[in-house]
Amino acid sequence: MSSAKSSPSKVLRAFEGRPSFQCSNCSAVIALKDELISKSFSGRDGRGYLMHSAINIRMGGKEDRPLLTGVHTVADVFCVGCGDRLGWFYHKASDQSQKYKEGKYLLERERLVKDNAWTLDV
Ligand SMILES: [Zn+2]
Repeated sequence: MSSAKSSPSKVLRAFEGRPSFQCSNCSAVIALKDELISKSFSGRDGRGYLMHSAINIRMGGKEDRPLLTGVHTVADVFCVGCGDRLGWFYHKASDQSQKYKEGKYLLERERLVKDNAWTLDV
């Protein structure tokens, strides 16, 4: 019986050569460009990206936070490589119109760098 458990190094190899976002501090791969939903979100300190998924991250505790679009239950997201706060994860949105964000990640643009395979027109 082979193990389905994937090691971090396996994940990184799978992402090699694919456009991705990396931690601006330690260059850990955080998310794939393919997972980008929107780049016009507001983070705490500036612009943010809404992402379907993220890797190499650690989640903090849940808390209710008033955001521009109403109160959301979120958890801060930290880089496993260096511990920098990268954004947050949406557990729950109180407003019906914001429900699409549940289970998604908001990553601060300032905390990420893009690899050389692609550029953003912003
Ligand atoms: Zn990092």
